[in-house]
Amino acid sequence: MSGSTSPASSADPFVLAVARVHDGLGFLPDDDFIVVVAEGTVVDLGPRARLLGKYSALPLVDHSNAVLTPGWIDTHVHSTMPGDGRPIEEVAPAPFETRIAIATANLRAHLAGGVTTVRDLGSHLDYLTWPPGPGLMPRVLRYGMPITADRGHMHLFGGALKAARTVTDVARANLEAGADGLKLVASGGGTLGTVPHETTLTSDQVAEAVRLAHTYGKRVTVHALTNGAIIAAAAAGADGIEHLGFLATDGLSRVQQEALEAAIAAGIVFGSTLGCNEAYLHLSGSNGTAEHDEQSIRTEYYRRNADRVLGAGGRMAIGTDAGWKHTPFGAYTRELQLLAGAGVPAERLLHLATAGNADALGVPGLTGMIRPGHPADLVVIDGVDFAARAPKVLEVVAAGRRLASPGTPS
Ligand SMILES: [Zn+2]
Repeated sequence: MSGSTSPASSADPFVLAVARVHDGLGFLPDDDFIVVVAEGTVVDLGPRARLLGKYSALPLVDHSNAVLTPGWIDTHVHSTMPGDGRPIEEVAPAPFETRIAIATANLRAHLAGGVTTVRDLGSHLDYLTWPPGPGLMPRVLRYGMPITADRGHMHLFGGALKAARTVTDVARANLEAGADGLKLVASGGGTLGTVPHETTLTSDQVAEAVRLAHTYGKRVTVHALTNGAIIAAAAAGADGIEHLGFLATDGLSRVQQEALEAAIAAGIVFGSTLGCNEAYLHLSGSNGTAEHDEQSIRTEYYRRNADRVLGAGGRMAIGTDAGWKHTPFGAYTRELQLLAGAGVPAERLLHLATAGNADALGVPGLTGMIRPGHPADLVVIDGVDFAARAPKVLEVVAAGRRLASPGTPS
């Protein structure tokens, strides 16, 4: 983990000059813009030639060859897991202070990599009590402890169902502790003793959580690696599905048309996670191992299924699964590159990473757009040819404050 040191950020007003602007919806026509930031918000945006004189008294941050987009949103992280290959069985039992130290370094690394908002999709209940800081941090939406079957995937976070502990019990514990939404686990996964291609919750169980969450005005997203779990989540009215598994009962990925159609008809958002554990493929000494085979096969079918979902008109959110096993924080651009490789053009990719993701999270006014009056969550990069190379992150602004040391830490 290589998080930047705590930055001495200031809320003083400034002017940012850039070549191009993607405002969350698309690229603005023409070049050479300035954005004026004060008191945490964007107060003005327009052509440099027209506006610069008006704001000449403010300090100028000059990135006049670069591209400005809203700060990126990662819809799927595990803040308290290190993402250095250690499995959940090893890290979940750590004491609160250790888990918070990991989260602090992780969130700083993600911010330095351009991510100004994250959604945590699996931590202990006590993570909800932590006020992120010190120093500049991304905005953190937390879904509490995942609701999972007895001994089910991620049960080590404390959200497992028992004979006398219902979905409503765990859901209520999360929501009353301040969770921003609920995460359900409807299939096995990477937790020891679970089978990824096994469906573990019924549609009725998912519906029970959805009803309660929606009463609180909160969303529900479901870890659903199987076609069966996707069908259950869609029937239950869930808002999101994590990953692009579409696993059949034999463990192979085969998109079942019924599952795809049900999810699309229900308006469900698929979380991408193409780069989940993909970093393993680049580790020295990984070649030829069984895990290398497994990760490359999965990376390939996630890419294929992303193409299938988008081609069928499905909704997608961009999430990395950072923290999980080999998935590092600070590498959001890697997920963008993998999606670019799956055929998503840069303009759409940047929309999905910003306004699209804000919409998927149900917080469209909170972040994800560059508009006067909106919070100033911004990132400046040196190019948008994601398929060719990872862009360099030149500037990060979170709620109007400039990060002292932006860059791509990993
Ligand atoms: Zn995850």
